[in-house]
Amino acid sequence: MKKNILIVPGDGIGQEVTAVGKKVLDAIAKKFNHEFIYDEALIGHVAIEVTGNPLPDESLAKMKKSDAVLFGAVGHPKYDNDPSAKVRPEQGLLKMRKELGLYANIRPIKLFDELLSASSIKPEILKGADILFFRELTGDIYFGEKGRKNNGDTAFDVAEYSRYEVERIARKAFDAARTRRKKLCSVDKANVIETSRLWREVVQKIALEYPDVEVEHQFVDATAMLLIKDPRRFDVVVTANLFGDILTDEASQIAGSMGMLASASIGDGTGVYEPIHGSAHDITGKGVANPLASILSAALLLDISFGLKKESDSIINAVDDVLKAGFRTRDIADANTPADKILGTAAMGEEVLKLL
Ligand code: NAD
Repeated sequence: MKKNILIVPGDGIGQEVTAVGKKVLDAIAKKFNHEFIYDEALIGHVAIEVTGNPLPDESLAKMKKSDAVLFGAVGHPKYDNDPSAKVRPEQGLLKMRKELGLYANIRPIKLFDELLSASSIKPEILKGADILFFRELTGDIYFGEKGRKNNGDTAFDVAEYSRYEVERIARKAFDAARTRRKKLCSVDKANVIETSRLWREVVQKIALEYPDVEVEHQFVDATAMLLIKDPRRFDVVVTANLFGDILTDEASQIAGSMGMLASASIGDGTGVYEPIHGSAHDITGKGVANPLASILSAALLLDISFGLKKESDSIINAVDDVLKAGFRTRDIADANTPADKILGTAAMGEEVLKLL
């Protein structure tokens, strides 16, 4: 298979981990006889520094032309400490999602058995947890009208959803549930929020097309509690942008570390694959970032955008084997990890490559 992959490392540890993710894609191409042609593009703080624009037109054009994007992260302390800055790295991310029509963010939350002790949740509650989140990505309070009134003393953000936006993500989630344990949990706040009432109405209607999938509706507050109390009860979870943003970070703790989780953002065109973590200023440049989330993002890319399931599984198995061999980056090590098994970013990547 011949494919064009755009590498968009972005800022901070995005640069460090994406370099490893790309090496893994290279190894897969060699092993399975594919041809991956790479290009690179700027986004975020690095793009602002060079062009003044967090998503330059050239980057966007390259994204639209490529078959898939392997993305890192955006963010820089300069902007975190200056909420009034008009040009910001995350504008690049939001524009990329909007322009590429990436309406579904997919996050597999799967715990590798070897990391049971790295989670703050008891192993007996966690073992076997395997959740697939679908977070809507282009609507809700993030994209509605926002502003200030009363001389700036009152602020507002409007949440908006249209029927078609709920329908298309619900269908993706139902389709995925069919390939898994056939359970779907739709999360809303339909007791108080009007967009949630539309959400529930639409999901109930789509559910009629999937009689083989067992559907439940949960309120977001109850879901936040159930994720910690009994994560194994969930199979596929589908929810709106704001609720999904919060719940998926909560669920990331099931997997022990932000450094382990990959995500896919898909729509009708190019898909974008990225770790769920940010640019992690606190460890940037130290060579200690966990590259496994980027490596697992590469696995998702192969599976979802190219349909290369065997290739994708071989990456996941290699990660599993590296963990079984006892290798850890600092974020997933514990008191029992021998010092010689604690690896930096590049060395962890090399171990995965050896097994591939
Ligand atoms: P973060 O995800 O960057 O880091 C949170 C914590 O997790 C930090 O202590 C960090 O060291 C650790 N961590 C994250 N990834 C890790 C990895 N691969 N290996 C080891 N440890 C890891 O979130 P933050 O600190 O809240 O934000 C930092 C910057 O990232 C901010 O500018 C924020 O706006 C940005 N951000 C970007 C994205 C994105 O690009 N998708 C997402 C979240 C945050």
